[in-house]
Amino acid sequence: MHLRKDNIVELPVNISHLDIEIVRGCFLKCKWCPLDKEQPYQFIGLDLFEKIINALHSVNGGYHRIDLFRGGEPFLHPDIKALLSVLERKNMSGKRTIGFFTNGMAFKNEQIKAVVESSLNIEIVFSVDGVGTMESFEYMRPGAKWEIVKKNISLLSEARKGSIYGGCKKIAVSTIIPHQDAVPFFVPQEEEIHEIFKKEFSLPGVDEFYYRGIHRYNGQVLIEGMPEKEIRNGACCFVKRGGISILVDGRVSVCCGDLTNTLIVGDLKNETFGEIFYGRSLSSIRGMMLTGERSKLEVCGTCDLR
Ligand code: SF4
Ligand code: SF4
Repeated sequence: MHLRKDNIVELPVNISHLDIEIVRGCFLKCKWCPLDKEQPYQFIGLDLFEKIINALHSVNGGYHRIDLFRGGEPFLHPDIKALLSVLERKNMSGKRTIGFFTNGMAFKNEQIKAVVESSLNIEIVFSVDGVGTMESFEYMRPGAKWEIVKKNISLLSEARKGSIYGGCKKIAVSTIIPHQDAVPFFVPQEEEIHEIFKKEFSLPGVDEFYYRGIHRYNGQVLIEGMPEKEIRNGACCFVKRGGISILVDGRVSVCCGDLTNTLIVGDLKNETFGEIFYGRSLSSIRGMMLTGERSKLEVCGTCDLR
């Protein structure tokens, strides 16, 4: 391990992106979501969250983006304001983005206030799967309501206009475009879908749109109409860039796509970040990726994510 004079651990690669699961659990029943909805909800505790953020400080990792999300619905957390305060106290502002991916249904006044009153550069990404229509959205996200999500986007947009706090608050919409054979509605070309989204969401205040084709997360989800799983080799970009993903209980996984937690490489409750990053488990996974043995990793060989 490379330890500098100021006790900062040098990592071999910059961690450009990491995510912290602040809530495990969700009340929607989105098609093809691999999250286990039967397990009880878990919320990250403030002590553990602070410990994790302190651990991040001990490594020279970069962290251009930290997502407070790893599947599940982050705005179910009972104290978003306190979590954001920890990040502010640890100077996690500046150019670094703090991201939330939300289903938009649990986004209440209290959370909107916490976000707009924070000095952090926060990006809220609303997941609006489908082709930009209520029909497709509510088909792909059973339990979600198109009008409620649109209303919550508008409320956030209005609130940030009046904010006196410095941090940028970006609002984005992300969609998963389904495979035509897997859904009963028509799936237009991506350019057309983009126009539909712009028409529906630019006025409510959305700054950016992200599009992704339908994927099987870590290769474990079967989707009707998709071609047979192809076995992949070679390192995925998440591992090459040194991504890391921290679970609600402090365990560390290789990546955010590992929603079934099969790629656990350590536990921040009783190991340091440096020990985990240089530990045998992560080195062995990284080694398999780099030597063309990705397919031997159960969830990675058929992963569509990267
Ligand atoms: S909102 Fe996310 S976590 Fe919840 S069911 Fe949908 S895909 Fe799964
Ligand atoms: S191959 Fe997929 S599941 Fe495996 S580490 Fe990369 S993104 Fe994650």
